Amino acid sequence: MSDVMRRRLFLIQAVRIPLIAPFAALVPGAAGCTSGLDCTDTSALTGSELTERTAVNYVEVAADPAKRCENCSLYKRADSNKCGACTLIKGPINPAGTCTRWAMTTPP
Ligand code: SF4
Repeated sequence: MSDVMRRRLFLIQAVRIPLIAPFAALVPGAAGCTSGLDCTDTSALTGSELTERTAVNYVEVAADPAKRCENCSLYKRADSNKCGACTLIKGPINPAGTCTRWAMTTPP
């Protein structure tokens, strides 16, 4: 991916999050789906890591409660009240979030 494309993706994400976040509470059921965590600090990520995060359309609040990160087989839990992690993408992951690569947890 070219540097121009990376910059475009970064700018799109930088603009999209502040525009969408204030309206998240207006989505029916969203308040009950949020974890109360803010896992949006991506300042420690490299450009390519940020691009990967954007490419899978990671969001802080899943529209489908059945496909939340906390139900994904790629999610790594953290201590309570802390953002988790993901084996696929870098950066803090909200347990209430999701992405297009959500994977069903394999039954024991
Ligand atoms: Fe969340 Fe996607 Fe990572 Fe699964 S793959 S934990 S849905 S970010």
